[in-house]
Amino acid sequence: MTDHAPSYYAATANSFPEQPPLAREVSADVVVVGGGFTGLSAALHAAEAGFSVVLVEANRIGWGASGRNGGQMIPGMRWGAADLAEKFGNENARRLVAVANRAGDRVRDRIARHRIDCAPRLGHFHAAAKPGHLYDMRRELDWLERNLGYEGARIVRMSDVEEFVASPIYHGGVYDRNGGHLHPLNYALGLARAALDAGVRIFEGTPALDVDHGSPVIVTTPAGTVSASHGVLACDAFMASVDKALGRMTMPVANYNVATAPLSPEHAAALIPSGAAVSDSKFVLNYYRLSADNRLIFGGGEKYTPTPPRDIRNFVRPYLEQVFPQLQGVRIDYAWGGLVGVTLNRLPDLGRLGNCFYAHGWSGHGVLLTTLAGELIADAMRGTAEQFDMFANLPKRPFPGGALLSHPLYVLGMLWYALKDRL
Ligand SMILES: Cc1cc2nc3c(=O)[nH]c(=O)nc-3n(C[C@H](O)[C@H](O)[C@H](O)COP(=O)(O)OP(=O)(O)OC[C@H]3O[C@@H](n4cnc5c(N)ncnc54)[C@H](O)[C@@H]3O)c2cc1C
Repeated sequence: MTDHAPSYYAATANSFPEQPPLAREVSADVVVVGGGFTGLSAALHAAEAGFSVVLVEANRIGWGASGRNGGQMIPGMRWGAADLAEKFGNENARRLVAVANRAGDRVRDRIARHRIDCAPRLGHFHAAAKPGHLYDMRRELDWLERNLGYEGARIVRMSDVEEFVASPIYHGGVYDRNGGHLHPLNYALGLARAALDAGVRIFEGTPALDVDHGSPVIVTTPAGTVSASHGVLACDAFMASVDKALGRMTMPVANYNVATAPLSPEHAAALIPSGAAVSDSKFVLNYYRLSADNRLIFGGGEKYTPTPPRDIRNFVRPYLEQVFPQLQGVRIDYAWGGLVGVTLNRLPDLGRLGNCFYAHGWSGHGVLLTTLAGELIADAMRGTAEQFDMFANLPKRPFPGGALLSHPLYVLGMLWYALKDRL
C-alpha cells in the first residue's frame, strides 16, 4: 500500500482510521474497486439504498486524483453546453446538461448532510486567456440561460477582472456562483466516513488483481476475494489495472500543483478578491485558489511523458509567476503531482461490462461530476438507469495506435495544442 503523496492536502488531512486489507473471502451485493470520489459516492449511495457494499482500494482512501486535485468545483462538463448542442442536438444537450448541472448540489448536499469538514467556498471564475475566448463564454452563458434558465452566472468585462483576480493577463471571463472550491482529500475522507457509517466495508491496501464481470462478479485481491451481484470499476487513470480495454479509453496525463507559504489575509484578499476558484481558458490551463489558511494553491503545466519533472516547484513556478508577476520568488511550501485520466474527446466514459458498471475519463473535470456519477451508478443498480444511460451513450473511442503507438501519437497532438496557447 502506498501512503498519500506528500502534499498540502496530506499535511492537513482530517484523521481517518486506517482500514485493514482484505484477507478472506467475502460476499456482498455490490463490490466497488477504487476509493476516490467516484467509488466512494457509488458505495455510499448504494449502501443508503439498502445494498451491502464492499469497497477495495489499492492504497489509501483518496490516494489517486481525488486526494491531489486543485479542489476546483467547476460547473458543467468539459464541453460547453453550446458545443454539446451543436454536436448532439439541442434537446439531447439540454437533458444532459440539466443532469450534469445537478452535480454541484449533490456535492454540497453531501458536505452538509455528513458535516464534512473540507473548507467549501462558493464561486468559480473562468478567465478568458484570449479575446475570442470571451466571445465563446458569452455564447455558452446565453445558451444556458435560454435553454435551462440558468441563474447565478455573469460575464465579467476585461475592465472588471481585477474585482475577481489581480492578474494582468486576462481579457474578461465568467463568474459562476454555482462553482467553488474545497479541500479534496478531506472531502474524500468525509465521504469514506459517511460510507463506513452507512455500513460499507472498506479495505485499504487491497488492489484488485483480476475482475470477473460475470454472475457473480468476482474481484480477486492478493489475500482474498469478493463476490457480488454488481461491480463498480472506479479506478480512473489506473483503469488498465482492472481491464486492459477500458484502460485504452483514457490516457493518464500528469498534472502538477504547488501551495505557497501562507499569505497575510490582506495579501490573499488582494490577489483573489472574489475568493473564487479561478481557472483560465488556455489549453494547458492554469487553475488556482486560496486555501483556508491563505496559501495560493496553483496548478499549471502538464507533462505527457511518464517521468516527473526533477523539481515540481521549478516546473510550476513560471506558470504561477506569469499569472501573478507580483508573486515573483514567493516561497513554495508544498509541490505534488497526480494523474488525470483523459479521454480522446474529453467526455467522460461511463458504461457497463457484464455485471460491472464503470465511470472514468473525467478529463480534469471530475471534482463535481464524480459524486453525481457514483449516485447514477447506484440508481442504475436499483433499476433507474435513464440518467446513467444518457452519459453511457455519449460517443467513445479508444486512443488510436494500439498499446505501443497510442502514447507517442497523443503526445504529438497535445504538444500541438499546447503550442497554440502561445500563438
Ligand atoms: C493534479 C490534478 C488536479 C486536478 N484538478 C481538478 C480540479 O481542480 N477540478 C476538477 O474538477 N478536477 C480536477 N482533477 C480531476 C479530478 O481530480 C478527477 O477527475 C477525480 O478525482 C477522479 O476521481 P475518481 O474517483 O474517478 O478517481 P481517483 O480519485 O483517481 O481514484 C481511483 C482510485 O482507484 C485506486 N485503484 C487504482 N487501481 C486499483 C486497483 N486495481 N484496485 C483497487 N484500487 C485501485 C487508486 O489507488 C485510486 O485511489 C484533477 C486531477 C489531478 C491529478
